[in-house]
Amino acid sequence: MLVKALPRRLLLGPGPSNVHPRVLAALAQPLVGHMDPVFLAILDDVQAALRRLFGTRNPLTLPLSATGSAGMEACLVNLVEAGDRVLVGVAGVFGERMCEVAKRAGAEVHRVDTQPGCALDPDAMRDAIQRVRPKVVSFVHAETSTGVLQPVDEIVRAAREVEAFVVLDCVTSLGGVPVELDAWGIDAAYSGTQKCLSCPPGLSPASFSERAVACARERKTPVQSWFLDINLLSRYVGNERVYHHTAPISAIYGLAEGLRLIEAEGMEVRVQRHRVAAAALIEGMAELGFEPLVDAAVRLPSLTTLRLPAAVTRADEAQLRARLLEKYKIEVGGGLGPLAGQIWRIGLMGENARITNVEALLMALRQLLA
Ligand SMILES: *Cc1c(COP(=O)(O)O)cnc(C)c1O
Repeated sequence: MLVKALPRRLLLGPGPSNVHPRVLAALAQPLVGHMDPVFLAILDDVQAALRRLFGTRNPLTLPLSATGSAGMEACLVNLVEAGDRVLVGVAGVFGERMCEVAKRAGAEVHRVDTQPGCALDPDAMRDAIQRVRPKVVSFVHAETSTGVLQPVDEIVRAAREVEAFVVLDCVTSLGGVPVELDAWGIDAAYSGTQKCLSCPPGLSPASFSERAVACARERKTPVQSWFLDINLLSRYVGNERVYHHTAPISAIYGLAEGLRLIEAEGMEVRVQRHRVAAAALIEGMAELGFEPLVDAAVRLPSLTTLRLPAAVTRADEAQLRARLLEKYKIEVGGGLGPLAGQIWRIGLMGENARITNVEALLMALRQLLA
């Protein structure tokens, strides 16, 4: 298939989301070198904008050169040495992935699980934190596999009591719901560009507290990953400008433009836009027999999970999604892990969180289900 002949899709799945034309235009700008002062100024701007968006003053706030999973890996491998205890709150597939990443980094992994579609129980987390006394407590803010927005306050407080580092996955929250790393007391957090930031996939904005940076500096053993070692990365994104790996220059142009669009809109307006779009989606889908999986109190606006109507079987649902894509050029997501075949995951992320998109989806589904 020729790249020029690609169809235009409305991407209402769990990511990627559609990209603003101004971001696409930024991606097409001429290359300059990764040590060129012009590029370094753009990188500085991106770091400053990311600090504002993450709600942090952390000097080490940067776009990592890989997808959200690399952000997860970076946060864990820099803080964890072999034998360290890590406690993971598992509320879905991405919490599960954290366990796997921590285990491979040599951690002794402990976990607190919850039912699919539920938030982590802060009391269960507190009990486990007190019992395990972990070095790191890690969990997901916006669990894209279930559509839960996890309250963070109580878990962070419990982690602080034992002086544990807190790692937070903000992949589907950053740019869609408020994120306040410093106010919450988060030590390491990461996101991904293709969800609520509405940029192409390929970068993972991440931020490390001074305490996390010191922890990585004072390790007894080198960070397991050379590529994601913040001791090395900070020498390029900081003042020294020492070459580590070639920055993904074009992708960073795109992110710079995406962040500019977010600031021009303002986070308050943007957060409200996500709420309004999700509410309209839930209301319209209810008329078609789709019911929300998650309690209203912990529902994630940027990603809505819906139980299928009784008339739609497991086999039907995959076909229905295929026809939605083929005939109406709309992508939605199926269930992941234990929820496969039982739910749909509909993303209204970043640029896509608009009533017009909700209406387009509802119109298509009304026709397909008629
Ligand atoms: C998408 C996602 C990831 C992984 O990001 P990739 O860009 O696919 O590597 C991690 N955590 C959450 C919550 C996600 O939604």
